[in-house]
Amino acid sequence: MATEFDCHQDAGFECDFHIVDENEDELVDFVQIHGRSAHDTTVEESDIREMLHT
Ligand SMILES: [Zn+2]
Repeated sequence: MATEFDCHQDAGFECDFHIVDENEDELVDFVQIHGRSAHDTTVEESDIREMLHT
């Protein structure tokens, strides 16, 4: 099942970043890269996993 992350809905940023991925580990990587490049924020892997939904 695909996992989703929406930056505005799940993390509360004024941001339209949204990602859907079948591979949760890969999605966590993408979200960490996005957090650093777009928001200058380092997000812990465990925090990202809590924000993911299907
Ligand atoms: Zn964002």
